[in-house]
Amino acid sequence: MSVEQHEFQAEVKQLLDLMIHSLYSNKEVFLRELISNASDAIDKVRFEGVTKPELLPSGEFAIQLTADPEARTLSVADNGVGMSHDEVVTNLGTLAKSGSGDFIAKLKEAGKQGDAPELIGQFGVGFYAAFMVADQISVLTRRAGEPDAVLWKSDGGGGYSLEDAERSEAGTTVTLHLKPSDEEDGLGDFTDEWVLRQTVKKYSDFVAYPIRLEVIRPPQADDAEDAEEAKEDTSNEPLNSMKAIWTRPESEVEDAEYNEFYKHISHDHQEPLLRVASKMEGNFEARSLLYVPSKAPFDLYHREMAHKGIQLYVRRVFIMDECKDLVPDYLRFVRGVVDAEDVTLNVSREMLQQDRQIQAIRKYLVKKVLDSLKTLKKNDEEKYLSFWAEFGPVLKEGLLVWDEKNKDRILDLVLARSTHDESKLTSLADYVERMNDDQEDIYYMVGGSYDALVNSPHLEAFKEKGIEVLLFADPVDDVWLQQMPPQFKEKSFKSAGRGEVDLSTSEGDESEEKDDAKDQEQFGDLVSALAKALEASAKEVRLSKRLTSSPACLVLDEGQLSPQLEAMLRQAGQDVPDNKPIMEINVEHPLLVKLQEIFETDASDARVASYAELLFAQAQLAEGGQLADPAAFSRKLADVMLDAL
Ligand code: ADP
Ligand code: MG
Repeated sequence: MSVEQHEFQAEVKQLLDLMIHSLYSNKEVFLRELISNASDAIDKVRFEGVTKPELLPSGEFAIQLTADPEARTLSVADNGVGMSHDEVVTNLGTLAKSGSGDFIAKLKEAGKQGDAPELIGQFGVGFYAAFMVADQISVLTRRAGEPDAVLWKSDGGGGYSLEDAERSEAGTTVTLHLKPSDEEDGLGDFTDEWVLRQTVKKYSDFVAYPIRLEVIRPPQADDAEDAEEAKEDTSNEPLNSMKAIWTRPESEVEDAEYNEFYKHISHDHQEPLLRVASKMEGNFEARSLLYVPSKAPFDLYHREMAHKGIQLYVRRVFIMDECKDLVPDYLRFVRGVVDAEDVTLNVSREMLQQDRQIQAIRKYLVKKVLDSLKTLKKNDEEKYLSFWAEFGPVLKEGLLVWDEKNKDRILDLVLARSTHDESKLTSLADYVERMNDDQEDIYYMVGGSYDALVNSPHLEAFKEKGIEVLLFADPVDDVWLQQMPPQFKEKSFKSAGRGEVDLSTSEGDESEEKDDAKDQEQFGDLVSALAKALEASAKEVRLSKRLTSSPACLVLDEGQLSPQLEAMLRQAGQDVPDNKPIMEINVEHPLLVKLQEIFETDASDARVASYAELLFAQAQLAEGGQLADPAAFSRKLADVMLDAL
């Protein structure tokens, strides 16, 4: 292969342009990024080496920094997995990593407003960050298991070149030709030993492989021996302590170190929201250091992609990244490390699930995380609210799992809107606390959005009688509340929008019952006529006990599918059985009073049927639903309006 010229993907060009002209003051983070890539590459080859030992390097795993002040170059070399020609093209020519789409979108936005630089700090952009400090970068890399190397070169302009090359071992060497240092611009001298030591200490101290530094000093005629000594001095002692951060007592580790470690393992560039360090003792021993991120990754709901899992170590030795068996799906946002004492070292990914110790650790971690969230909820409301906004819907998936103990723990963590105070979220415990003395159930309502729920006609009687209703609008709510409703503090959940509700209080019971019977008798025929007119869309029409100001509403039977769930099932290509709602009417409403008059005068008046349809359609709209035939509805409405004029 001669020299190939390649163009960067458009997004990469934008990104590079930003890097090169960056005003971001923390330019030193480029080194963290390169070291972290080197460390990831070593992790990868170690993992592949479990089944293919021939891929492993002959010497120890290490990351070597070489600084040449004279030539103004700095290189970062590793003996990790390396990259093939094609891998180089995708990895160092495109932006494929998670979150980058989001980043680019924000970048474009910020570019317009001229405040793009801070975004670098927020997102971190890996390899490309090196263009903040370098005007030329070369990457010499050889994939483990392959004989040839390739050399990638770029000045950060529109593209890069690729050519055949040689490297004695698998691994990667990234060499930067540094821009002139400029302290004012936040650009230190990254060929300076002291600067490099500081930077490694600050960001990469816990990296599990030794990071060594060699500073090339120009040979000086008269003290060649000294120079030789100086070189010896610096090249052997690792700059990083390599101390597994989770083995150190919490009191000795600074928050900043913990946060750097989080960023290192999670590839997130924001501070974590919560840290959970713990030590499991007893039959099985393990240490864990887990984190809850501040922001949900964009792919949190693409389950396969988002469940990145947790790093597994056994006695300080890295075993695997992304071990999904250590936490259930509903905690898939948790990142961190678990270091177990005696998991069998040769377990395969499939066998791991079965491993008794992994099972025990998982149980322990779930409890730890849920308990820590509970403490957070108690002690830091603001943080907890932000947690809930990001991860609440995922956590609620845990209510669909057959695990009573944890279900209770999760219910303790649930927050919901409520008719008690529409501006705030409430916990279930606070709801129960406020329940009326004679109230037996926890009332809730599930819908497509809060706005539709808050104004839903179904809540009229509840509001009038001062009975609080919880409002749920996440897709998962439908499932846990409707399909497998739990109990909370021995109270059942009851939908305000389903079945028959009877809110009559004990004193008023008798007279209300009499009224009901009278209404039945008086309106029975109208009800039948409406039902007939709505045969195709409603399975029943009946008098309502939940309406006070609206003329009609639609309700579902206890076990019936909600419109949201129905839509989801249909989308998934499933057959949905006949699922017509019930229409309830409010005979106190002037509209129905009038309709009754018309009906009594002439039972065959055509207006009865068309009003039935309008009532049904407006009830559908009132709960935020979709009309089956909006055009027919508008025509009908226009006719009625015309008549009324
Ligand atoms: P990230 O590390 O978040 O994936 P980067 O921009 O830092 O993003 O790196 C992009 C990709 O380039 C990495 O995912 C990896 O596949 C590859 N890469 C970068 N540096 C190295 C290296 N030293 N050895 C092997 N592969 C590397
Ligand atoms: Mg990286």
